[in-house]
Amino acid sequence: MSEVISIANQKGGVGKTTTAVNLAASLAEKGKKVLLLDIDPQSNATTSLGFSRGDYEFNIYHVLIGSKKISEVLLDSDIENLQLVPSNIGLVGIEKEFYNPKAKNRELVLKKKLAEVSGDFDYVIIDSPPALGPITINALAASDSVIIPIQCEFFALEGLAQLLNTVSLLKKTINPKLKIKGFLPTMYSGQNNLSKQVLADLSHHFKDKLFHIKKGKECIVVPRNVKIAESPSFGKPVTTYAASSKGSIAYRDLATVIVRG
Ligand code: ATP
Ligand code: MG
Repeated sequence: MSEVISIANQKGGVGKTTTAVNLAASLAEKGKKVLLLDIDPQSNATTSLGFSRGDYEFNIYHVLIGSKKISEVLLDSDIENLQLVPSNIGLVGIEKEFYNPKAKNRELVLKKKLAEVSGDFDYVIIDSPPALGPITINALAASDSVIIPIQCEFFALEGLAQLLNTVSLLKKTINPKLKIKGFLPTMYSGQNNLSKQVLADLSHHFKDKLFHIKKGKECIVVPRNVKIAESPSFGKPVTTYAASSKGSIAYRDLATVIVRG
């Protein structure tokens, strides 16, 4: 059975895709079989692994409307053990399909589709869009847990209550096993007082829900790192683009904690 982890935060540009891609690559680097599932119409995770539109015919949209199985849309990435379910801007059309009142159990479509490949992967990492609509609900309904990236900037915690309410509502209804795996501070800049303040606030509010590589040591923080920002344009995770950069180390540490369980 695979462990399914969504990366979610309806706030835009907080590091969801970066986290999904680099956590997936770091888990694969540890020899785990990993599926990165791009369920954002922006398709940034797909592009980050070096795929462009002409490279694939079918994508997650075809899976969600029921015309393809996940096994039929999988792409092999350049990284050993890492496969991708690509997305495409056409995925915006799914919202309309899901709002059709006749569509039954529309929150559980992805979960059913993922069950078919559950034996094939150790981990499924889902990159979700910056919205709390039906796409993200499908991702959370299909997941064992969620990692919430928090950008260490002003307004970092804005909208968080709404996301946490959604998670607890799903837990009470369609997905009782859903857990918050943790909060991941991203784009941290040590020279910036605001960054430090956001990290202090996070540590205060969510102490037990930050990731720690060693007990008693500081929590895992993804630094603002130019190699991270550059790597998508080379179609590579930072872990292969700049293998020993600080950004790579942070995402490898996160993978270590995830594997440890
Ligand atoms: P969206 O909500 O649009 O899906 P997102 O939450 O997925 O955005 P990303 O795309 O991962 O966010 O990151 C937003 C931008 O910030 C990207 O250009 C990315 O390359 C850059 N970025 C992310 N993390 C870092 C980092 N630690 N250091 C430097 N740049 C980063
Ligand atoms: Mg994204």
